[in-house]
Amino acid sequence: METDIARILFTQDQIRRRVRELAREIAAAYANSGAGLTIMPILSGSLIFLADLIRELPIKMKIGLVQISTYPARTTTPMPPRTLLPPVGDIRGRDVLVVDDILDSGRTLRHVLGLIRAQQPATIRTAVLLRKPVRVPADLPVEYVGFDVEDSFVVGYGLDYDDYYRNFPHIGVLAPERMT
Ligand code: 5GP
Ligand code: MG
Repeated sequence: METDIARILFTQDQIRRRVRELAREIAAAYANSGAGLTIMPILSGSLIFLADLIRELPIKMKIGLVQISTYPARTTTPMPPRTLLPPVGDIRGRDVLVVDDILDSGRTLRHVLGLIRAQQPATIRTAVLLRKPVRVPADLPVEYVGFDVEDSFVVGYGLDYDDYYRNFPHIGVLAPERMT
């Protein structure tokens, strides 16, 4: 697996430290949430980030998984994303924190935020582990960002290529010859 990675961008240790800092910020923001917090991770890329983040959050919370399937690797024909949310009513009036692995064009996040907003939570914020600043549209602000990254295809720590590399403990750039 390691031989498929061209360059490491963030090591396991760097990620652990940054996730802890983010958790501290988030914990402070929601410490007095009267509405109750629901964390809504967008699967599957956010799995590992989610698992590490929530164990650093000493807050009573619910988890509401969001499953979204966009086009699979190797498909170039755009297909409308299909999205599965928790049952309607579950998040009405609650504080929602959406968690995603990486913010690229913002297309996925915009779509999910729209669906969540329709269920009328009290507040919505977003935490992403990674952000590609050159790609993100200016009108899509996110409240919590782990690291800004260059515009390369990255894998590891939950991020995949063709569903591989999610278990790679660091975040790195996939060797171009592996992207076929
Ligand atoms: P967006 O809709 O913002 O363009 O893309 C968001 C989704 O595309 C992410 O949740 C992630 O699943 C995938 N994605 C975007 N850039 C990368 C990348 O560099 N590496 C990986 N593994 N996935 C990416
Ligand atoms: Mg994703």
